[in-house]
Amino acid sequence: MNWQDFPKWGRWISDWAAQYHATLRSRPVRAQTKPGQIAAALPDQPPEEGAAMDRILSDFEKIIMPGITHWQHPRFFAYFPANATPPSALAEFLTAVIAPQCMLWQTSPAATEVETRMMEWLRQAIGLPGEFSGVIQDSASSATLAAVLTMRERALGWQGNDKGLNNAGRLRIYASREVHTSVDRAIWISGIGAENLVRIPVQGALRGMDPRALEQAIATDLEAGFLPAGIIACTGGTSTGACDDIAAVTEIAERHGLYTHVDAAWAGAAMICDEFRDLWSGVERADSVVFNPHKWMGAQFDCSAHFLRAPGDLARTLAIKPEYLKTHGQGPVINYSEWSIPLGRRFRALKLWFVLRAYGLQGLRARIRDHVAWSHALARRLSAHPDFQIVTAPVLSLFTFRYCPAGAGDSDALNLSLVEAINDDGRIYLTQTRIDDQVAIRLQVGQFDTEAGDVDTAFDVITEIAGRLTAA
Ligand SMILES: *Cc1c(COP(=O)(O)O)cnc(C)c1O
Repeated sequence: MNWQDFPKWGRWISDWAAQYHATLRSRPVRAQTKPGQIAAALPDQPPEEGAAMDRILSDFEKIIMPGITHWQHPRFFAYFPANATPPSALAEFLTAVIAPQCMLWQTSPAATEVETRMMEWLRQAIGLPGEFSGVIQDSASSATLAAVLTMRERALGWQGNDKGLNNAGRLRIYASREVHTSVDRAIWISGIGAENLVRIPVQGALRGMDPRALEQAIATDLEAGFLPAGIIACTGGTSTGACDDIAAVTEIAERHGLYTHVDAAWAGAAMICDEFRDLWSGVERADSVVFNPHKWMGAQFDCSAHFLRAPGDLARTLAIKPEYLKTHGQGPVINYSEWSIPLGRRFRALKLWFVLRAYGLQGLRARIRDHVAWSHALARRLSAHPDFQIVTAPVLSLFTFRYCPAGAGDSDALNLSLVEAINDDGRIYLTQTRIDDQVAIRLQVGQFDTEAGDVDTAFDVITEIAGRLTAA
């Protein structure tokens, strides 16, 4: 295949894409294949001879598509959303064919300069003050790792990269149990060690860490001669949407000279709506804030917006400048690879530019507001049903519930089999979590093509399948 044939197949894919999206509601949301089934359909050995594109595409439909879970399905209510809107997909198509590698300013000045401007747009859109600068990371996990490394270096007087941690003091990082597992991994990878991630008790499943307990833990560590380095707070935790009191946390952090990272990977997108900003009030005093436009803002995976009050601290931790990467004679330019862990970078800012222009903030806000309203309405309907109980009230568009029919008994096993039965049915897709050692079913509304009717369908499917489970 060559570029002459490209338009034919490019058009084929565009047509296929429109058809795919138009028929999504008729497909089961979660893939219904068994483990190993897709792999078994692929030959054991690589082909010696090239094949024609029509053969490859027909195998794609036959072999690959049955094994896809449809994240763009309007009745995807599992995990968090991963919206890929049409303007974003078009931008990614352009990026794929230009394929620039955007590690330095000079390796594509447009990528760097659009990134700077898009981060300024997003900063204003979510209401962060002007002293924050942003960078696009591949994922929130990378942003959190970069923040933890910065905490480490700052606490060690910028000596950790040189000297290692062998003779360093015992670094301590504080977080609640509600933070994402990417925090645990950042603690492992940074060499700080899981034993030094101090879990601060929470004040209930939705409220974050207890500020008095945080203050106490820091005081105890200081007395023991440990080195408190930073705090990781969350706005919209993954399990139930728990939110730390960012104002209280940053006040304590400032008093002890600690670095604060706020993980708002999912909930941050909602901050384009003024009325939700109470959830993270005090965020303007954090040092580092991450949210994922690839979740609830329509810029497809991967695109993680990382804001820093002092980007110099991050660059001091991560920048490395061998001669072959220097940019001579261009004056002050930003080389974003000095702000992130991988050297190579995709042109991720282009899809943000397309999405923000195509929808405008008004279009994005309207979707988020609908999702929040529909989620609240669904939670009200389920709580009015005698066999269901709301475990955690909606935080934005995420809530958890439990099936507890009178007579049939209320058990973890019953709730897990309900989730399985719903996902085998395929009309909607949900996942479970564990709250205070009990299983709860987790539901979020956030796919951009979801309509009110899809949320009504969720109610019908949940109650119908639950009824069938206990009648059997
Ligand atoms: C989704 C999520 C993450 C992980 O995001 P990635 O971009 O996949 O690394 C981290 N924290 C929270 C709160 C999340 O919701």
